[in-house]
Amino acid sequence: MPLATPYYLIDETALARNLARIDQLRAASGAKCLLALKCFATWSTFAQISPHMDGTTSSSLNEVRLGREKFGGETHAYSVAYSDGEIDDVISHADKIIFNSANQLERFAAKASHLPIGLRVNPGVSHSHFDLADPARPFSRLGETELARIESVMDRVSGFMLHCNCENDSVSAFSALLDQIEERLGALLTRLDWVSLGGGIHFTKEGYPIDQLAGRLKAFAEKFGVQVYLEPGDTVVTDTTTLEVSVLDIIENGKPVAIVDSAVEAHMLDLLVYRESANVAPNAGPHSYFVAGKSCLAGDVFGEFSFPAPLAIGDRISLLNAGGYTMVKKNWFNGVGMPAIAIRRQNGHIETIRAFDYADYVASLS
Ligand SMILES: *Cc1c(COP(=O)(O)O)cnc(C)c1O
Repeated sequence: MPLATPYYLIDETALARNLARIDQLRAASGAKCLLALKCFATWSTFAQISPHMDGTTSSSLNEVRLGREKFGGETHAYSVAYSDGEIDDVISHADKIIFNSANQLERFAAKASHLPIGLRVNPGVSHSHFDLADPARPFSRLGETELARIESVMDRVSGFMLHCNCENDSVSAFSALLDQIEERLGALLTRLDWVSLGGGIHFTKEGYPIDQLAGRLKAFAEKFGVQVYLEPGDTVVTDTTTLEVSVLDIIENGKPVAIVDSAVEAHMLDLLVYRESANVAPNAGPHSYFVAGKSCLAGDVFGEFSFPAPLAIGDRISLLNAGGYTMVKKNWFNGVGMPAIAIRRQNGHIETIRAFDYADYVASLS
């Protein structure tokens, strides 16, 4: 019996393609690549991913622990702010800890004195298409900005984390940004052992000049005598995963609307947050439909797509690129049935790795 929709379907072959590009970048640049768990934490895939990456980075206690327990390799701890109650636990799971401010570093560095300590520095420049995701937006709290404060903790740090990119698919834009960073922070960078350049570089995209990026990273590493880290999230899982849904009803209100057994807010939240449309392939043909979710939200619309034949109740639709920032954000809004998680193995066999039911919904509240 085919697996009942809705479910996220992770394709091992597509993941292997991205992982090969990560290997290519690591080999050519000498940079280490850590999976950013906030983007993708479906740990059943870690056995496939971990041989091609150097470890994980995190944004919370839960993530750093997951990285340590399920992924292995180097486990970096970072958070916008740690609490007194969690810091000991965080340190117990970490190989390195990166503080977001000089304040946090002053407060907790003594507890982590056996670990390499880093500081997140905000160079005040960025590449992002969205204000919401722009670390250099006005009054940003993401990293220290003031040279005097950075200087005041330099004796205790061996590295910086500089995360300034979001969905940057241009190697020249990345390189120009790095030029600016070198200019602003160069004198400090020479005093470090390592620099993490964060995530947000879409280097697994088809046609991306990986060797050019590698050359730029290598030049940076040699110029300042540092080990470079990258913290890719989205680019690791780009185009590896679909959200499989079925048509439940078709209504007409000026245009035909196909209602499916999912909800944008619950299962692909970022589409709403960033006001983007989902995608289907090939998205061609004479029959056009709004594909919409079953929640009560009026704007619960995945997008308007074209199909080769009219849709019928029971038809399956594959919503593309549902790997990054989806499963980590799924929620029980409207009590909509939670998509199962399945993996298409490299031999074509589809295996359900997790299914959710009423008991999970009940357990999510009390
Ligand atoms: C979000 C984030 C990442 C991952 O970003 P992607 O765009 O998914 O590659 C890496 N590092 C930090 C500090 C982040 O906040």
